[in-house]
Amino acid sequence: MMEENLPEDLANLSELDEKTLLEVLTRRFTQNLIYTYIGDILVAINPFKYLSIYEKAVSERYKCHEKKSLPPHIFAVADRAYQSMLGRLATGPKNQCIVISGESGAGKTESTKLLLRHIMELCKANSQLEQQILQVNPLLEAFGNAQTVMNDNSSRFGKYIQLRFQNSSVKGAKINEYLLEKSRVVHQDEGEQNFHIFYFMLAGISAEDKEIYGLLDPTRYRYLNGRFGQDGMVQTWCVKYAEVSNAMDMVGFEEQEKVDMMTILAGILSLGNITFETTDSDALKVSEASRGWLKATAGQFGVQEEDLLKSLTCTTSMTRGEAIQRLHNQQQAEDARDSIAKVAYGRVFGWIVSKVNELLAPKVDWDVELNEIGILDIFGFENFAVNRFEQLCINLANEQLQYFFNHHIFLMEQKEYKEEGITWETITYKDNKPILDLFLTKPIGILSLLDEQSAFPQATDRDFVDKLNSKFKTAPNFEVVRNHTPLFTIVHYAGKVQYNASGFLEKNRDTIPANIRELFINSVTPLLSVLFAATISRTGTLMPRKAKLQAAEDNFNSTRKQSVGAQFKHSLAVLMEKMFAAGPHFVRCIKPNRSKQPDQLDSKLVMDQLRYNGLMETIRIRRDGFSWRPTFREFSERYNILLLKPDLPLDKSSCMSILNSTELSGWKCGSSRLFFKYWHQEELARLLERLGRAA
Ligand code: ADP
Ligand code: MG
Repeated sequence: MMEENLPEDLANLSELDEKTLLEVLTRRFTQNLIYTYIGDILVAINPFKYLSIYEKAVSERYKCHEKKSLPPHIFAVADRAYQSMLGRLATGPKNQCIVISGESGAGKTESTKLLLRHIMELCKANSQLEQQILQVNPLLEAFGNAQTVMNDNSSRFGKYIQLRFQNSSVKGAKINEYLLEKSRVVHQDEGEQNFHIFYFMLAGISAEDKEIYGLLDPTRYRYLNGRFGQDGMVQTWCVKYAEVSNAMDMVGFEEQEKVDMMTILAGILSLGNITFETTDSDALKVSEASRGWLKATAGQFGVQEEDLLKSLTCTTSMTRGEAIQRLHNQQQAEDARDSIAKVAYGRVFGWIVSKVNELLAPKVDWDVELNEIGILDIFGFENFAVNRFEQLCINLANEQLQYFFNHHIFLMEQKEYKEEGITWETITYKDNKPILDLFLTKPIGILSLLDEQSAFPQATDRDFVDKLNSKFKTAPNFEVVRNHTPLFTIVHYAGKVQYNASGFLEKNRDTIPANIRELFINSVTPLLSVLFAATISRTGTLMPRKAKLQAAEDNFNSTRKQSVGAQFKHSLAVLMEKMFAAGPHFVRCIKPNRSKQPDQLDSKLVMDQLRYNGLMETIRIRRDGFSWRPTFREFSERYNILLLKPDLPLDKSSCMSILNSTELSGWKCGSSRLFFKYWHQEELARLLERLGRAA
C-alpha cells in the first residue's frame, strides 16, 4: 500500500466525503493501524487482539516527541498532555484534561489505562506511588466492572482520574466516580453477570476463609442467577482474586478492613436468597426454606436476626415523634431486601474509592502549586430496548460532553475568527444546547421537575410523565408518547431514545429507610457501622462519623437530602467547570464490530459512530481551522529569540518579522492575535530546537 493512501491525519485528506473517510480508516485497520488523527484528535479503533505497539521500546520513543515524527498513538496523546502541562508546547492553561468517548466496548477503559501507564513513564514516577496509582485500576475494576453483552469487562461506573503534579513529577491522584450501576447487584439481564468481585472471591478464596465468611456453593446464590464458572473461567478468576487482594494490600487496606469487606459481600449474597410468603392470616413471613439464609445474613452483617427481619417486613416512619410501623406486602419485602443489597454494595464501593483517594492524596505543603492531568472515562451514549433512569443520567452526561467538544471545536473557533476579522466560511454543526437546557434549566428542566415530583410522597411516575408532557409538548427535542406505561422520548444528539419512567421517582429519591440505616449503624461489623454512620459528601469523599459530627449538622442533612438527579447534576457541573478551564485532548474510540472479534470491521456500525460523534464536521474544521491563537505578546515573548534579538518589542511588528523570517505558511493575523494551524506549533518548536542545538 502506498504511503499517500494511508494518511495518518484525516485533516490532510483532499477528498472529504464519508466514503473516503471510511475507506481510509478501514484500510488502516486491516493493517493493524488502529490509531488515526483528525488534527489533534485521536481516533482509536478497538483491535480486539493483542498488538505489539505498547511495549517499552515504543513508549520510550513517544517521550517528548514531535507529533509528526511518529505514527498516531495513544502514547502521543499522553505525551502531548504532559508536555502541555509543563508549558513546553504552547501558551495556554497548565491543567489538562483528556476526554475519552465511545460506546460500550469501544476501548475507553483500555485507553485510559494506556494513558496512565505512559504518563507514569513520562514523569519517571517514584516507584511506590506509581505502583499505587497503577494498582488502583484492578481494584476498581473488580468492584465496578462486569461482563455484559457488549463487553466482557464493562465498566459499570464512570470515572475522572486526576493526576496531580508538582512541576514534572507526580505527587498524587484523585478519583471521582459517577453513577455506579447498583441495580446489577440484584439483577442482571440475559447473558450478563454480576460485578466481577463476587466471582473472583468465590473462585479464589481458601476453603478456610470460605468457612469464616460463611460462603456456600456459588451456584446456590440467586443474585448470581445460580450460575458460576460454566464457561471455564474459574482458574482466571482465581488469579484475579489474588491480584485484587494484592492490590488492596498495596493501596493500603488493613487486614480487618479486607475481612469486613468480604464478609459484607458474603452477606449480600445470602440476603439475596431470602424469600417471603404470606401466612394464612395474611401476615408476611420469611419462607421456611430461607430461614437459614436469614440467619446467615444476620451473622455476616453483624446484626440481630430479629432486627434484620423487621427491616425486611415492615417500614417504620416517624410521625409527630411517634414511630409508626407499616407491614410490607410480599413485593415490598422483596424490594426492601434488594435495596439493602444495593445500598450496602454501593457504600462499599464508595468507601473503596474514598480510601484510595486518602491514600493517593498528594503529600505536599499546602502552598505548593499543583498542576493536573485529568482523564475522563465514562459510559458512552446508551439506547436499549428499555431505557431507565440510569440511561437518562448517562445520556445527559454524554450530551454535556458533546457540548464541551462542540464548544471547543466549533464555537470558540468561529466566534474568535469573527471578532478578529479573519475571513472564514461558517461551518454548520448540530448545537445540542437546547437538549441540555431541556434537562437542566431551572425551574422547569426535566431534572427539576423530577425533583419536584419526588418531593411529594404520593406522586407517581405517571404524574411525572404527565407533567413532562404538559410542559414540554412543544419543545423541539421532546416527544410525547401515548401509552399506559409512563413513556417519553428525547431526541438526543446521537438519536431518539424512548425512556420508561417506571421507578424514576424512587431511584431519584434513593432514600434509605430509617430502620435500615439504624440496622446497619448498630452492626458489630466495624466497617458496616462506619459506612452507614458516615455520610458521603457531594465531592464523593467519605466523612467519618466523628468529622461529620464536628461539621455543621445542617450540612449533613443537606447532602443527605439531595436527590440522585441533583447530586449528579452537581457533579457534572463541577466536572465541566474543571474541564472548561483545562487544555482539552480528545480520544474518540470506535467499536469495529458487535461480536468482539479481531480483524472484522462492520462498515455501517463504524459509519454510525463517526456520524453521531460529529467526526465529519470535525475533520473539516480541523483541516480548515486554526487551533492555536497566541496574542502578539505571547508569541513574540516566546519566539523573538528566533531572530536572535531578544530585546525586540513584544508587538505585532515583531511577530511579523519573526514569521517572515521562517518558511511557515497558512497562518493568519487577526486584530489582537495570530492564528495558526495545529501543526505550526510543531514547526516552530523544531526551529527553536535547531537554534538550541546551534547555540
Ligand atoms: P469500554 O471501556 O469502551 O467499554 P474497554 O476499554 O473495556 O471498552 O474494551 C473492551 C475490550 O476490548 C477490552 O476488554 C479488550 O479485550 C479489548 N480492547 C480494547 N482496547 C484494546 C487495545 N488497544 N488492544 C487490544 N484490545 C483492546
Ligand atoms: Mg469501560
